[in-house]
Amino acid sequence: MNTQKVVVVGGGPAGMMAAGTAGRRGCAVTLLEKNMRLGRKLLITGKGRCNLTNMMDVEGIIANIPVNGKFLYSALYRFSNREVVAFFQDWGLPTKVERGGRVFPVSDRSVDVVRALEKYMDHSQVQVMTGEATGILVDGSAVSGVQLKDGRRIPADRVIIATGGRSYPLTGSTGDGYRFAAVLGHTITPLKPALVPLESSTPWIREVQGLALKNVAIKVLNNAGKTIYTDFGELLFTHFGVSGPIILSASTHLEQADSYRLLIDLKPALTPEQLDLRLQRDFMKNGRKVFHNALTELLPRTLIPVMVELAAVDPDKPVNQINKVERQRLAALLKELALDITGLRPIAEAIVTAGGVAINEIDPTTMESKLVKGLFFAGEVIDVNAYTGGFNLQIAFSTGHLAGNSC
Ligand SMILES: Cc1cc2nc3c(=O)[nH]c(=O)nc-3n(C[C@H](O)[C@H](O)[C@H](O)COP(=O)(O)OP(=O)(O)OC[C@H]3O[C@@H](n4cnc5c(N)ncnc54)[C@H](O)[C@@H]3O)c2cc1C
Repeated sequence: MNTQKVVVVGGGPAGMMAAGTAGRRGCAVTLLEKNMRLGRKLLITGKGRCNLTNMMDVEGIIANIPVNGKFLYSALYRFSNREVVAFFQDWGLPTKVERGGRVFPVSDRSVDVVRALEKYMDHSQVQVMTGEATGILVDGSAVSGVQLKDGRRIPADRVIIATGGRSYPLTGSTGDGYRFAAVLGHTITPLKPALVPLESSTPWIREVQGLALKNVAIKVLNNAGKTIYTDFGELLFTHFGVSGPIILSASTHLEQADSYRLLIDLKPALTPEQLDLRLQRDFMKNGRKVFHNALTELLPRTLIPVMVELAAVDPDKPVNQINKVERQRLAALLKELALDITGLRPIAEAIVTAGGVAINEIDPTTMESKLVKGLFFAGEVIDVNAYTGGFNLQIAFSTGHLAGNSC
């Protein structure tokens, strides 16, 4: 029988999984959460539906973790996506698989994910305590407890830091764990927003805010004109710039303070030659229409005035009078609609925080600190982050499970 006293700091998905797992092994576990309720960020995931994992194989999952994915091999193999699905099934939450392998609760309610984790912890006799940790106590080179804001101290043989990142701070994720780890000598790699919308200074953006484009291809170029990211999928124009799944993924590869050029291919299925033929056909069919009325089959309505202006063609010119140079100018725009990207939105608006506790200071087979005995990390506080698709929650569950099993 394991009689270790374990304190888990943070009641998000990583902390709840860690606490329940340590409790099942017989440890006396206290889960400390500063909010009155657990999993506040979890509740807003997947637009309230919670995309809790992805059904790709483990190699595919690692490929979707662009920052330090390989560090997670042990954690992901020991508690894989299939085990996450089986785990939730066991705790009363059947799941379903949607487009791109994304897994959601059948109920489409993230609150049911929180409830399943609560049930797991309850069954493992985890004591849930409301309180805010302000530091980790150590005795020599080993942890001895957790200091609370109200002056109380909770003694512990093991402490798992699962305080999350620094994004969406109103949910409770205010980056406290980075501070706790730094005080104990851990390196915190620079924190920056990831999976975050991009800001643009291109003036016409405001005319198309709210417009979503499906099935477009994008290319992001750096200041030297080098392509640093390409993707295909859905994009959304906002009042400040661009968002949507492919933009969020692109942001992971951009620096907050740098500027970039975004090229949108509105017709990725057509080669330039095929597009020119399509335009010729369209213009022939609509010969008597004026230019701005002849584009409705080609473009979403709100984008037409923008494209007409950028193509520098008189909007009232009859289509049968449009010359080859003008048509080719339009074709070029359709293949490469350019936007100036001036930076990333702030970290508070990011889906995840990039950076965190340096992975070379954590044992990947246990999640224990290599610097302080009895100290473990789980979830977003670690310097790992993934694309959208359920991968970030899989990281939280896998690292939480491994830490809970190892402490
Ligand atoms: C809008 C949004 C949608 C998302 N959708 C998805 C999705 O569908 N799928 C997906 O895979 N990922 C999604 N994510 C990312 C995912 O939510 C996070 O990666 C995940 O929640 C990280 O889990 P965690 O347990 O490490 O940290 P968190 O969920 O941030 O939990 C940390 C907990 O620690 C508590 N805490 C912090 N400091 C202290 C302290 N000092 N004392 C006590 N408690 C403390 C916090 O209050 C919080 O409850 C989304 C994120 C956002 C913002």
